[in-house]
Amino acid sequence: IGRARFPNTKSLDTFDFSFQPSINRQEVLEFQNLAFMEKSENLIFIGNPGVDKTHLAISIGIEACKQGCRVLFINCHELLIRLRAAYEKGLLDRSLSRYSRYDLLIIDEIGYLPIGHQEANLLFQLVNARYEKHSTIITSNSDLSAWVDIFQNPTVTAAILDRLVHHVHVVKITGKSYRLRGLK
Ligand code: ADP
Ligand code: MG
Repeated sequence: IGRARFPNTKSLDTFDFSFQPSINRQEVLEFQNLAFMEKSENLIFIGNPGVDKTHLAISIGIEACKQGCRVLFINCHELLIRLRAAYEKGLLDRSLSRYSRYDLLIIDEIGYLPIGHQEANLLFQLVNARYEKHSTIITSNSDLSAWVDIFQNPTVTAAILDRLVHHVHVVKITGKSYRLRGLK
């Protein structure tokens, strides 16, 4: 769990399902059984800030660690900075093979920052390397139909989405921000 670099280690025990009725409790509890990982399926959590995307991803990641899987949690922006740095040092292959070996890779917050052409290509290479081999969990504030605005390039957007969504569970969370629950 330490090596997975989670920003915190919240489990679903603290989760208030009644606050977020758009989340299907049964479906989320099933993700914790990790059957999706046996089939190398991906999970994509989509919703506005504060609706629990990251918390859900972490709780599934912790479960995978407990089952002995190699897991890494990484913010999308940080991942792209690391891939770019590896590329510039001529170490891209080594970096890609490292990130593609994790049994479960959690890429948090795709879409908060625009992604340049080169970074989009690097992300495509990573998604392609993991395709049908290992599961990836992604959180995003953007609907998949708006991802072309993030990557600013229809071709690479289509290529990334094609691999990601071939075997995927997309969970859309439409409720209010839990962070802002006290505000009137
Ligand atoms: P997101 O990634 O969607 O922006 P987070 O997963 O970071 O949101 O959730 C924001 C905060 O609110 C976290 O501390 C999370 O644990 C908490 N939280 C969100 N929804 C719930 C809920 N329904 N019950 C308990 N805690 C929640
Ligand atoms: Mg988040």
